[in-house]
Amino acid sequence: MTTTVRTRVAIVGAGPAGLLLSHLLEQAGIESVVIDQRSRDEIESTIRAGILEQGTVELLDTIGPASRARTVGHRHDGIELRFEGEGHRIDFAASVGRAVWLYPQHEVLKDLIAARLAAGQDLRFGVTAERIENGDRPRVIARDADGAPFEIEAEFVVGSDGSRSVARAAVTGSSTGGYFREYPFAWFGVLCEAPPSSDELIYSNSPDGFALVSQRSATVQRMYFQCAPDTDTAAYSEAQLWDELQKRVPGTELKQGPIFQRDVLRFRSFVAHELRRGRVALVGDAAHTVPPTGAKGMNLAIADVRVLAKALRALLLDGEERLLDAYPETVSRRIWKAQHFSWWMTSMLHAAPDATDFDRRRQLGELRTVVESEHGRAYLAEAYCGWPLDV
Ligand SMILES: Cc1cc2nc3c(=O)[nH]c(=O)nc-3n(C[C@H](O)[C@H](O)[C@H](O)COP(=O)(O)OP(=O)(O)OC[C@H]3O[C@@H](n4cnc5c(N)ncnc54)[C@H](O)[C@@H]3O)c2cc1C
Repeated sequence: MTTTVRTRVAIVGAGPAGLLLSHLLEQAGIESVVIDQRSRDEIESTIRAGILEQGTVELLDTIGPASRARTVGHRHDGIELRFEGEGHRIDFAASVGRAVWLYPQHEVLKDLIAARLAAGQDLRFGVTAERIENGDRPRVIARDADGAPFEIEAEFVVGSDGSRSVARAAVTGSSTGGYFREYPFAWFGVLCEAPPSSDELIYSNSPDGFALVSQRSATVQRMYFQCAPDTDTAAYSEAQLWDELQKRVPGTELKQGPIFQRDVLRFRSFVAHELRRGRVALVGDAAHTVPPTGAKGMNLAIADVRVLAKALRALLLDGEERLLDAYPETVSRRIWKAQHFSWWMTSMLHAAPDATDFDRRRQLGELRTVVESEHGRAYLAEAYCGWPLDV
C-alpha cells in the first residue's frame, strides 16, 4: 500500500541545498517535506567541501546559534599560490575586503539537520525518490526505508538530489541533458592526523602536478594531489602518499601523521540545459557541478537556494510567477562565472598529461601575471570569496 503525504514544497535531497531551502521556506511560513535516500549518520559523516564563502556564512547565520561556522570554523583572509618553489600570498582582505571560512560540509549538515529537526521539520531519511511526475500538482514517487511505496504530492518539487539527480529528468527530459566537460586528471585526497603544515591553504603548481595543502583542525589535515582519474586508492603505501604530496609542495616541509582516509575525486563540469520546467526546479549539484579547485560547489548550491526561496515565496504567498520565470536566467549568470573560475584555476594549476614545454612555460607566465598584477589578485580574491548574494 502506498503512503501519500501532501505538502506545499517537496524537496528531494537533504544536502546543503535541500536543507537550507526548507529553512528559508519555513521562515516565510511555507511548509515543506524533505527526503533523503541516506541515513542521518551517513549524511553527517561524509567528508566533502570545506570552504565557505562569506555570503554562505551570512546565510547560515539565519539558522541562529545552531550554525557553528563562525565559532568552530576558521576565518581565512588569504591563500598562497605556489609555483617555481616560491609562495605568493593572495590577500583577500587587502584586495576585496572579504574572507572565507574553513568549516567542513558535514559540520554544516549537522547544524542544518539539528536546526530543521528542532523546528519540527518533516525530514525523512532512508527515503529514495525514483522519479518525479511533473504537472499542475507534481508528485515525487519514492520508496521508504523498508522498500514500501511512498509518494509526496506538492504544489512545487525541488530537485536538490546531487550530481546523480533523478529529478533532472523531469526538467531536462533526460538524466544527463546538459553542457559537460571531463578533465584528464583527478584529486587524490587524504585525511591525516597531524598538526597543520601552514596557516592558510597552499595551492601549488609543480612540474610533478598540482597539490593542495588544506586544514581541518589542530590535529586533522586534508590534503590533495593531482592523479590520473582511474587511480586506485589502494595503489599507494602511506610513505608513497607522503612522497607524492611533498614533492609537489617544494619549500614547505609537510607535517606528517597517520593517514586515515583516502579518496579519488574526479573532475567534471556540468550545467543542465534547463533548470526549471513547470512546477519542478533544480538546485545545487543536480543543476551543475564544478571541479573542486575553486571551492565553488557547495557555495553555488547555496546561492541557487537563496534565489529559488525568494521565487517560491512570491509564487506560493502572492501567486506571482515572475521571479520563478526568471530563476534559470538569474542563477545562470553566477553558475557560468563559477564555471569559468573553476575551469581557470584548474587549468592554471594542474599539469595536463599532454602538456608541452610551451604549455608549461605559458602556465607559469599566467601565474606570474596573476600574482604580480593588482587586477589579477583582485579577480582571484573576489571569485574565491564569492560574489555578493545580492539577488
Ligand atoms: C571530495 C569533495 C570535495 C569538495 N570540496 C568542495 C569545496 O571545498 N568547496 C565547495 O564549495 N564544494 C566542494 N565540493 C562540492 C560540494 O560538496 C557539492 O557541490 C555540494 O555537496 C552540493 O550540495 P547539494 O545539496 O546540491 O548536493 P549533495 O550534497 O550531493 O546532496 C544531495 C543529497 O541528495 C540525496 N539523494 C540523491 N539522490 C536521491 C534520491 N534519488 N532520493 C533521495 N535522496 C537522494 C543524497 O543522498 C544527498 O544527501 C566537494 C565535493 C567533493 C565530493
